[in-house]
Amino acid sequence: PHPTTPIINYQLSTINYQLSTIMHPHIWYPYTQAKTASEPIEVKSAQGLWLELADGRKIADCISSWWVNLHGHAHPQIVEAIARQAAQLEQVIFAGFTHAPAQQLASQLVARLPENLTRVFYSDNGSTAVEVALKMAYQYWANRSTPRQRFMAFEGAYHGDTFGTMAVGARSLFSEVFQDLLFEVDFCPYPATWDGDLEAIDKEANCLEIIRQNLTSHPNCYAGIIIEPLVQGAGGMRMCSSEFLRQLRELATEFDTLLIFDEVMTGFGRTGADFACNRAQMQPDLICLSKGITGGFLPLAVTVATEDIYESFYSDDPTKTLYHGHSYTANPLGCAAALASLELLTQNQPAYTQMEFWHRQHLTELANKYPQLTKLRVMGTIAAIDINNQEQAGYLNNVGRKIGHHAIAHDVLLRPLGNVLYLMPPYCITEAELAWVYTQIDRVLDKVLDRP
Ligand SMILES: *Cc1c(COP(=O)(O)O)cnc(C)c1O
Repeated sequence: PHPTTPIINYQLSTINYQLSTIMHPHIWYPYTQAKTASEPIEVKSAQGLWLELADGRKIADCISSWWVNLHGHAHPQIVEAIARQAAQLEQVIFAGFTHAPAQQLASQLVARLPENLTRVFYSDNGSTAVEVALKMAYQYWANRSTPRQRFMAFEGAYHGDTFGTMAVGARSLFSEVFQDLLFEVDFCPYPATWDGDLEAIDKEANCLEIIRQNLTSHPNCYAGIIIEPLVQGAGGMRMCSSEFLRQLRELATEFDTLLIFDEVMTGFGRTGADFACNRAQMQPDLICLSKGITGGFLPLAVTVATEDIYESFYSDDPTKTLYHGHSYTANPLGCAAALASLELLTQNQPAYTQMEFWHRQHLTELANKYPQLTKLRVMGTIAAIDINNQEQAGYLNNVGRKIGHHAIAHDVLLRPLGNVLYLMPPYCITEAELAWVYTQIDRVLDKVLDRP
């Protein structure tokens, strides 16, 4: 039997722990309601696309292990880079000290990013990369003696789980209980679009108009505008156009505010280009990167700023310093993994540029077969589609959970966001493997969805 025993009572599981393989008595799992969750699946090892489970089965990791893995699991070039670095320098304080992996990685990132982004600040997870960008933007104006208090963000946004990032994220199930502690943010609609969407242009014009109104009615008040460019991840793989981003850039420039790109998920090839800003052919003032940065091996993040922002902190006045840093800032192992991953990105560019075509072909076939599937959209390696059912759309829609369970039984790891079914495979997936994955999804949908 596949390991998806329904509803396990946490109290019971504690008592019976010795007797069976149920929820561990000493682990508090993330994003998991222990009382109603199925028992977690134990993974023994992984190779390329495949996770090997404790029971010996192999399942295809079609979500790149929460969007972090790029080149497949256990890629030997990254394994080797980490091992080599660990034997030489595993970790050292990064204030007052530096090391070659951090220096090389900063240079290589800057070489790949739009040319205005020149200063790399290291941290160790996506939420922190965004938190740092918000602090940089806020202090930028303070340092220039023109303080600004407000941020603009987008409906449906997800920027992380810390307080600052929850504040600029959509007020949702995730942040509801902390609402009173979050600073005020002005939210604008995100012009989510999909294949064959006839209203895309109107939606974009409407969003841009609302942004313009905000900027006009609060002149010199906005420290910055933060957006997940091209794809909103956790909010349901909602996609917007490059043209919208270019117009947003124009507005930010016209009204002299900072544009922050949260590319924690979209970075490093996910959208079919190195970065979403490259695909959209425009330049943000700050960019946040994490998730795929180490190829999915180690936690690492960067916030990259323009020279103009950096210069506002460059001063004899100690109050103008960016007083931020973490114990594992610029960890040498993470940097070494990131350097190896960048090399693989260069070597294997077709792997992430051609997937868009494969996705669209297969997803279109599914959409034609199941009338419940709507809003087909693909951006590079990310493919998504909504499932219409009787329940309310959103994270709590049960169809996602059902699909996830059935998918495991069909040897495929999927983790739909409520009623949004999406794929985000590692770049090592072959055309034949992807075709097989879609066949399995077809079988799953056949079980889960009612056929007319
Ligand atoms: C995952 C994610 C984050 C948060 O990153 P963590 O490493 O989980 O803290 C921030 N922004 C976006 C767009 C993300 O997808």
